[in-house]
Amino acid sequence: MTRQTADIVVLGLGAMGSATLFQLASRGADVLGIDQFYPPHEFGSSHGETRVTRLAVAEGTALAPLVKRSHEVWKELEGRTGESLFGQVGFLAVSSEPWQPGAADYVARTRAVAERSGVRHELINAVEARRRYPWLNVAEGDRVYFEPEGGYLHPERCVATQLRRATEAGARLALGTRVEAILPRGEHVEIRSDKGTIQAGRVVVSAGAWAGRLLGPHVSALLRPTREILHWYDLEPSAPAEWGRAPVYIWSYGHGAEEGFYGFPAKDGTVKLAHGEKTRAVDPDDFDRSSEEAESRAFYARSIDGRLKGLRVDASRRKTCLYTVSPDGGFVIDDWPESERVLIVSPCSGHGFKHSAAIGEAVSQRLLDGASRIDLSSFKLSRFGDRQRRIGASR
Ligand SMILES: Cc1cc2nc3c(=O)[nH]c(=O)nc-3n(C[C@H](O)[C@H](O)[C@H](O)COP(=O)(O)OP(=O)(O)OC[C@H]3O[C@@H](n4cnc5c(N)ncnc54)[C@H](O)[C@@H]3O)c2cc1C
Repeated sequence: MTRQTADIVVLGLGAMGSATLFQLASRGADVLGIDQFYPPHEFGSSHGETRVTRLAVAEGTALAPLVKRSHEVWKELEGRTGESLFGQVGFLAVSSEPWQPGAADYVARTRAVAERSGVRHELINAVEARRRYPWLNVAEGDRVYFEPEGGYLHPERCVATQLRRATEAGARLALGTRVEAILPRGEHVEIRSDKGTIQAGRVVVSAGAWAGRLLGPHVSALLRPTREILHWYDLEPSAPAEWGRAPVYIWSYGHGAEEGFYGFPAKDGTVKLAHGEKTRAVDPDDFDRSSEEAESRAFYARSIDGRLKGLRVDASRRKTCLYTVSPDGGFVIDDWPESERVLIVSPCSGHGFKHSAAIGEAVSQRLLDGASRIDLSSFKLSRFGDRQRRIGASR
């Protein structure tokens, strides 16, 4: 590639970029997708076999229409392609946080969103929860919420399927192409890459943990990449058989950021578990992607021991992954302050995959129709107000 043009360039083809490229190409747009790697890959935020999805997201009611629409898109895609993308096995929320005056626990917050958004759910007492899920060691007084429409997504398959559908609909791809600069030039945007220059009418920056460095100090100050770990634990031979039919689950047992975990049903004799750490800030181009057995043991001892039954602590594998954390834990979907031809699309803070299909569709509507059907105004940069200016000015 030396010099190319496109009406729209999608820069970064992970969860967000693949969904956006697919939606734009399906509507006949002249669109080019660029990625420095060959997605799906293991260097960003969209790998690791599974992602939790649920309709009542405790992160807020503004997200409910996005995840609802995403479920519809994943199912439509499954119908058209025959790919298995979405395991709708149900979702369990468990709260064993000690009571704190004025603080609603995780189940109470999830339930409030479910009720406001009309999401089907039930509350289960500890005796019933232990009967249905013998691998779940809930105690008297723990709160348990079940949502039948939750489940898990296969992130790599979602990315690959959307990219394939996009190219079938006419999208062009420039893979193994690293963008070095985005330069607004009045009537177009110039994109400089290690393979040449691209002239675009509009650009969607869905570069995940790398977005900040492409978008300058005011934006990069708000997008902090962190190192996260996924752990796989083998089942003991005596583990309850129900592990294979488990729903996905999130268990909150304290008020600190470390005091919770989430997990998936057993597959091929192993169970994947993790928690969002959000503490170890890293440079996405230069950090240690290896991980130690000791990290899995420490996580097991702190979070899993006594809560889940039938798992071996000594036989695990791990993968590292990147979050992009914003100051309020919310997403950034907004015009770049330097040019309204450039749209930033970052589902930040470790909970974006489940919303990505609908965000891709909403972004395509915004670019092609002038506005999206689902309201994206909660994701504007201006909500960071002075903080954004202050951080930018101090750099
Ligand atoms: C461990 C972990 C667990 C998670 N669990 C959940 C969950 O259970 N449920 C949920 O909903 N969400 C979850 N998330 C969050 C979700 O996966 C992310 O929000 C989502 O994957 C982010 O996608 P993205 O497209 O923004 O980033 P990415 O998938 O990282 O894509 C960015 C792409 O941009 C490319 N790129 C970057 N810079 C350049 C450049 N200069 N030139 C060319 N290409 C470039 C990269 O190569 C990459 O392919 C989890 C995330 C992690 C890390």
